[in-house]
Amino acid sequence: MLALQERDLAVAAVQKDLDALLPEEAVLDAELAAQTKALDDAQAAVGSAETRRQELEARIAGYKQMQERRRQQLEYVRGAKEAATMMAEIDMARGVLVKEEAEFVRSADWVIEAEKKLKDQVKAHAAVVALQAEARAALAERRGAIEARLATAAEARAGAAEAVRSQLLVRYERIRRGRTPVVLVPLRQDACSHCNTAVPLQRRQLILQGQSLESCEGCGVLLYVEE
Ligand SMILES: [Zn+2]
Repeated sequence: MLALQERDLAVAAVQKDLDALLPEEAVLDAELAAQTKALDDAQAAVGSAETRRQELEARIAGYKQMQERRRQQLEYVRGAKEAATMMAEIDMARGVLVKEEAEFVRSADWVIEAEKKLKDQVKAHAAVVALQAEARAALAERRGAIEARLATAAEARAGAAEAVRSQLLVRYERIRRGRTPVVLVPLRQDACSHCNTAVPLQRRQLILQGQSLESCEGCGVLLYVEE
């Protein structure tokens, strides 16, 4: 059973090596995620610049139509005062239209600018992917090697478990799933070396004689005597 515990500790150690890779992998993932987000943002910016341009175009077309209608109405207006009001309206609308058209011209620049930024982001993203390739390959190789060690350790563990009587194995597994990191703990003087709870003389003798496997009353681990 001590051999089984040793195997379990070996498996845990390899698992720890595997977990130790996670921060390095996380750094790469975070870097790539940030770059991907920048790329998505740039893509969205192109979309909204194009939308803005289309909206302006549609609005200008609408203004032009309204202006045309005013001009037509002006032809039928008879009163001088009414005509003056209409003329003022047309003038004002013309001013608005001039502004909107200037904005439309600028909007073309926004689209070009956004597209340029997108191009830069595509390049930057590709650069990060290329830059990470080596580090990711190295990490994958390390992970593969550790996983192979883990498989070997797990196999050895399974072998050791087979050597333990099933009744004891059940007990061992139950304790292992509990809070203590180890299942078998040596007696230190007359106490459990895990939690320091004193073990009564009678039980100590049973343990010493190897007649039964006693568990600690304090923490529940199985006690044994070190050679
Ligand atoms: Zn104990």
